[in-house]
Amino acid sequence: MHIAAAAFAFAPALAIGSFLNVVAARLPMQRSIVQPRSACQSCQTELRWQDNIPIVSYLALGGRCRTCGEHFSVRYPLVELTTALLVAACFLRYGLSGQAIVGAFFVSVLVVLSAIDIEHLILPDKIVLPSFVIVLVANIAFFPDRTLEWVIAALGASLFLFLALLAYPRGMGMGDVKLALLLGAALGWTVAVGMLIGMIAAVGFGALMMMQHGLDARKKAIPFGPFLAFGAIVAYFAGDAILNAYTGTF
Ligand SMILES: [Zn+2]
Repeated sequence: MHIAAAAFAFAPALAIGSFLNVVAARLPMQRSIVQPRSACQSCQTELRWQDNIPIVSYLALGGRCRTCGEHFSVRYPLVELTTALLVAACFLRYGLSGQAIVGAFFVSVLVVLSAIDIEHLILPDKIVLPSFVIVLVANIAFFPDRTLEWVIAALGASLFLFLALLAYPRGMGMGDVKLALLLGAALGWTVAVGMLIGMIAAVGFGALMMMQHGLDARKKAIPFGPFLAFGAIVAYFAGDAILNAYTGTF
């Protein structure tokens, strides 16, 4: 455990979460993520720096715009906090190391993709594909003796979802198939654990929706990306333990 490294990473990770909010809000709209400065979506007033501090400003302003009083989406502080906790967890696990940085990058990408998928039902290639290449190259650089594992896990996970897509086209999309490339490159063999957990979570969530809303729920499009991301994060931190427990049981 590297508690100092995790504590050191937490504040910068909140800032990364803040940046991910900007990406999630603007990239699907083809807007620049560099400028202009963040503004209230309702009255277009630019946020002052003290109203743009992750989590703190949301709490201080009661989740409302200082100028027009419009509610800000709870997604903003949620994305910031989730990013900060997951990035801190990477540094807690691996200390100040290249592996922690790759992990921090991976979980941050999963957070922003989930936020976009929930709102727009897309997983933009612009994020998924470069992230896949970056994680694959980094993992090969850090663990060259596992090169085959990263490549096979990426292609295998992607092929598996592609076949699932052919069998059940309504359940997912090509975005999920491409996301599986990233998951395999990041997780190696434990990608199987991640995908299984993701699918169980998605089926469980679907069943819950059906119980609450009846058959109408079937018409609602549910993004699959956040469930895959959830499974991948569990696998990233606990995949080896889960695999060992499983193979130890049989
Ligand atoms: Zn406003």
